[in-house]
Amino acid sequence: MVGRVRRWCTGWALWRLPRPLIIYVLSANSVALLLAITTAFLVPFDVGDLGRLAVLVGCALVNIVLIQHIERKREYSRNSKVAYVDTRAAWTFAALIVLPLPLATAMVLISSIAWGRVYPIAGRGLLHRWIFTNSTVLLGSFAAAFVLANGMSSYPGAPASTPLAGLADFGVIAAAALLRWAVNAGMVMAAIALSDPSVRVRELFSSFSDQSLEAGAYALGVAIAVIVLANPFVLPAVVVGVVALHRSSLVDQYRKAARQDTKTGLASAGWWHEFAEQTMARTRDREAKMGVLMVDLDHFKSINDTYGHPFGDDVLRAVAAELRAEIRDDDACGRWGGEEFTVVLRDVGSEANLRRVAERIRLRIESIALTPEGGVPSDEPIHVTASIGAAVYPAQGITTLDDLLLAADSALYEAKNSGRNTVRVSPISRAPVDPERAPVEPEEFREEQPPSTPSSVRPHGEAHEVTYEKGD
Ligand code: GH3
Ligand code: MG
Ligand code: MG
Repeated sequence: MVGRVRRWCTGWALWRLPRPLIIYVLSANSVALLLAITTAFLVPFDVGDLGRLAVLVGCALVNIVLIQHIERKREYSRNSKVAYVDTRAAWTFAALIVLPLPLATAMVLISSIAWGRVYPIAGRGLLHRWIFTNSTVLLGSFAAAFVLANGMSSYPGAPASTPLAGLADFGVIAAAALLRWAVNAGMVMAAIALSDPSVRVRELFSSFSDQSLEAGAYALGVAIAVIVLANPFVLPAVVVGVVALHRSSLVDQYRKAARQDTKTGLASAGWWHEFAEQTMARTRDREAKMGVLMVDLDHFKSINDTYGHPFGDDVLRAVAAELRAEIRDDDACGRWGGEEFTVVLRDVGSEANLRRVAERIRLRIESIALTPEGGVPSDEPIHVTASIGAAVYPAQGITTLDDLLLAADSALYEAKNSGRNTVRVSPISRAPVDPERAPVEPEEFREEQPPSTPSSVRPHGEAHEVTYEKGD
């Protein structure tokens, strides 16, 4: 029995974290627990308070059930290095304003347990994360309660309704909200930074839409606090409002998901196609010249077979980074599928320029050196090469984007047949439509740029399997 308990304890995912993070997480949990227990004993509450807690819990539960499907979609494409925000603060912050602290603590814990239905925590080794998340929310709440207790004309309770006292109360509530958010978010960001020191400060902040979602949740929390004391029957209307607010958080995500290939961060095939169509129309109007490259990695299957699919994915990401580094802001790289990439270059000037860019991309890819880690046959850096097919527009026989892609694809086929790691330009491109009106050569193509220094990317897997979400 003792042995089984010990085995269970030593198997916790918590122990696999870096030591400073373990100490930090355990300290935060201990302080939160101590404060929760102390306030539970010291702060009294009555039946009326329990009734209000029941109303808030009921609304929060309905809210959570209604947003489950939205959260699953957000979770699917979330960035694990970014603190996660949601609208639970609307209910927990309202509870903090109108309820005695022990009941506000209960509100946080109940909504967090209900949230477990959205994020199944059991069996994924994430229990420590869930506990830590609650600790950060509680510590933020305790700090905010201190401000409310010392600043509000009547705490716990609604802001005063007389002009001066009401305004002062509102100011205190705003300060408390800011403090709660800052403690909560700061602690989560510190945990993320401790788990992966390479994370940059900018990455630690969520996107603006998420932050505005959280600000909206706090603002609604104040309204809910007033309503729950004045007329709780209006609360169903608030639930509908909170759900609508939450749904709006998906818009940004959908827009991004439709445009981006999740593995490499390059343009998705669909969006690249759209961009290339627009570029073609503009090229036609301006009588300029554009180019398309099709880049296919050589013998990529053998890299997968030898070092594993995850390492293959690292190679794809490294290639994507090189492509991005080589092209201008006006151009676009897409992942066409598998290990095939496409590049569209606006105002390329001439076929010779296109060939030059293609050659630079080929050299960049050739310079990639990745070292597979653990359980693989070699510790030597692995190199990849690519074959590139190019085609320019306008050219004889090319009127649509499909024609242009077909020309680039045939050139790629030729490059593969000529021994790989080479560039071929479609012969169709070589016959200009109207040599009299040859476009002016853009400056950036004239100078040959040296290829990048060998890039080295950490192979598959993050340094530590840690992601933290912000509780509410
Ligand atoms: P060739 O020089 O003729 O292009 O040989 P190849 O092995 O690169 O060509 P092929 O098209 O036969 O193989 C492509 C391989 O790319 C097959 C597949 O296992 C791999 N692949 C496709 N998508 C992914 C991906 O997302 N990740 C990884 N790791 N591999 C992928
Ligand atoms: Mg290939
Ligand atoms: Mg291929």
